[in-house]
Formats: sequence, structure tokens, C-alpha cells
Amino acid sequence: MKQKALKIWNPGMECMDREQMRDLQSARLRETVRRVYDNVPMYRARMDEKGVKPEDIRTVDDLRYLPFTDKPDLREYFPFGLLAVPKDRIVRIQGSSGTTGMPIVAGYTAKDVETWTEMVARGVTAAGGGPEDVVQVCYGYGLFTGGLGLHQGATKVGAMVVPMSSGNTKRQIAMMKSLGVTMFGCTPSYAMHIGETIRDMGMDLKDFRLKSAVLGAEPWSENIRTRIEELLDIDALDIYGLTEIAGPGVATECLFKNGMHVNEDNVIVEIVNPETLEPLPYGEKGELVFSTITKEGMPLLRYRTHDLSRLNPEKCECGRTNVRMERIMGRTDDMLIIRGVNVFPSQIETVLTNIEGCEPHFMLTVERTGTTDSMEIQVEVNDRIFGDTVGHLEQFRRRIREEMKSALGLSAEIKLVEAKSLPRFEGKARRVVDNRKL
Ligand code: ADP
Ligand code: ZN
Repeated sequence: MKQKALKIWNPGMECMDREQMRDLQSARLRETVRRVYDNVPMYRARMDEKGVKPEDIRTVDDLRYLPFTDKPDLREYFPFGLLAVPKDRIVRIQGSSGTTGMPIVAGYTAKDVETWTEMVARGVTAAGGGPEDVVQVCYGYGLFTGGLGLHQGATKVGAMVVPMSSGNTKRQIAMMKSLGVTMFGCTPSYAMHIGETIRDMGMDLKDFRLKSAVLGAEPWSENIRTRIEELLDIDALDIYGLTEIAGPGVATECLFKNGMHVNEDNVIVEIVNPETLEPLPYGEKGELVFSTITKEGMPLLRYRTHDLSRLNPEKCECGRTNVRMERIMGRTDDMLIIRGVNVFPSQIETVLTNIEGCEPHFMLTVERTGTTDSMEIQVEVNDRIFGDTVGHLEQFRRRIREEMKSALGLSAEIKLVEAKSLPRFEGKARRVVDNRKL
């Protein structure tokens, strides 16, 4: 931890006794269920179908009787079919970046924007931010929630906000330096790119005042965290969210870097078995499911994220009592099934970041010839390795192939490429090309 300031934005909500929090959640859940039953035809029909009446839902434990919501529902009722308020009360539309197909949108009332802002303000504070900070927003602005989300939250804590949006890396860096930027936010892959660019330009970190970054919108690993922290001499913290629920700030990490605190006064989080959809106890790995309990515009019950994680209800060293979710271990719809084996791109990254000489940049291509799948992984290696003799290079390649095989349970063709030759990403990274016609 680079900093010691351990401020908490809203101790009342972030450090509440867990029993009390449960009561608050139960009360808000009852109110939400009643409201969606009365105002959203889809929910009324689904609850009727299951034979559940709003008055059957008394506490958080009764969540299991409620229907799930999933992304296709948002497409089916696009754009306004799931609103629980008249359209003229909506003051903002945000949309999904469309990582997984057709875009979806969510409508926010003025209060929803305020709640979202509060959640991000908590995260910025947890990352050490306050009025004395200069926060550069390098997430994209627009329908994507990253840019405006961090903008609003950082403004709320009183920081000086630099709304750069993503892209134009050299200009980002020049601005960081001349304005004395102390914090920034973007995807972890873009943070790595910013760090590498500063290093490659031969600039001295002493000329910067950077102390922390709030990074999210895509999965990353502990190894990547270490790398970003070393490149930029900062605390790199995780921030999680999705458009459907609020945007970034649904859960945010504190400086102890041991999972993201979920804003439980606004959402109820569950972990379910992604196949049976049975709720799982704390500590077990499964799919994150969120129910909003303060949202007016588009409240969602049991929204399936397809993101895999684990929950930890222990009180954190920072003093917050809100349940923590472990960093996202993958997304069920990111999972590739290759020759019957489940492969997550994050496994490939982990293998590579553990091999000295490999850069954490890769590109996976999956092909199908006849009925057989094959995969090729292009791997960036550093200049020292790349400049080595052909014999050594071949040895190195074989080693990666072996380690990949033991980690994935599947063999892949490995192709070594020069450092900096694979694409870099300003937003969410796209490292998989699946050419199979499934
Ligand atoms: P989409 O990517 O589906 O177009 P969003 O832009 O709303 O839509 O992104 C939400 C998704 O981004 C989450 O469901 C999750 O998969 C991913 N995500 C967001 N924050 C993080 C994070 N900190 N770690 C890992 N994944 C994240
Ligand atoms: Zn904490």
C-alpha cells in the first residue's frame, strides 16, 4: 500500500452492523418487489407464473422465490419496456458497450444518477481520493458507463476532474504530468499501455504525482496488478460494475486490496451455481447475481451477470463491513469450449505472466477444420528473448507450450512475436478471435 489515508465516504452505510444491513436490505427488497410487480408487466407475469405474490417476499432469504432476469430480457424489452416509472422521469440513458452482442440500454432517474454517483464516490475515497486530488478520467465517455461514472464520483468527492476520455495516450501522459494528476481510471489493459508508454518514452516517474488508479470494466489478475503498480508506482485498485445495475461502483476495492466491497445498501448480491441456478453459500465460487433495491428507473430482480466470483462476509481491515467480492475470475460467456475443454482467456494470461521473458500480451485464435478445433496463441516476448539464438527461442516456445498444456489441459500452437507487435487497447481488451462457425 503506497498510501495510508483510510477515509470512508459513508461510514453509516459502509460499516453497518451486518444484521442491521440485512434488515435494511429486506425492507428495501419488499418495497422494490411491490413496485416492480405493480409497474413492470414482465415481472408481474413472471411472478404470477411462479405463483409468487409480492407479500410472499419478506426477507433477503426469500430472494430465491423470485424469477431471474438475464441480458436477453433487456433486448426483448428494449428500449423502455422494463422501466418502472413514466418515461419523463428518466434523465439519463446509458448503454452497454456491446462486448457480447446487441447493445442494451438502461434508464436512470435523477435519484438513480445520484445513487450511482454516491457509489463511485465511495470507491474513489476507498482508493485514497479526496478534494486535494486531481483525477484523470481515461475511460471512454458516452453510452459506456465508465467515463461519466468516474467523472460524477470524482466530482462528488471534490477532486479536480480531468475528463480526457480514452485514447491519444501521449496526450494523456502529458496531461498527467503537467496537471500533477494523482489518480486516474481506465481499463487495466489501458493502464498497462499507459505505463509501458511512459517507460518507453524514457520519462521519470518522479516528474509525476500519481498515487492510485481505479481500474475495471474487464477481468484482470493479481500478476497484472503487480505489473501496473511497478510500471507506475501506484496502488492499482479494482472497480466493478455493469450498465444494467448502475455502472462502475457496484463494488469497489479499498487499499487493502483484498476483494471489492459491494454497496449492499443499494444492491443485494448472490452467488449461484451457473448451471442449476441454486444459491451458493459464502465462499463458494459461482455466478454473481444482483438485485437492485434502491433503483427507480429500471429496477432489476436477480440479474444474472455471467461473471464468476466468490463472496467474503468478514469485516475488512479498513473497517468496512460490506461483503467483498473476489476479483472476477472470468465470464461464463467468455468461456470457450475447445475440444470439449473449458478454456478461459484469463488462464492463458496467468500462465504467461508467470514466465519470465513473456509479456502479458497475447492473441488467441481458434479455428475449426472439419470437426477438429485447434488454437494458436501469439505471445509477445521481450527483446532479450526475441534476440536470442534460434535454438533457444525454440526451447522457450516449447516451454510455453508445455506450461499452457498443463494449465489448460489442451495443447495449443504457440507463436512467439516481438514485443509491442500485438494490438493495444484503449478500452476493453479483445484477445480472442474465434473463427469457428458454431
Ligand atoms: P458489456 O461488456 O456486456 O457490453 P458493460 O460495459 O456494462 O457491458 O460491462 C459490464 C461487464 O464488464 C461486467 O459484467 C463484467 O463482465 C465486466 N467488468 C466490469 N468491471 C469489471 C472488473 N472490475 N473486473 C472484471 N470484469 C469487469
Ligand atoms: Zn476494505
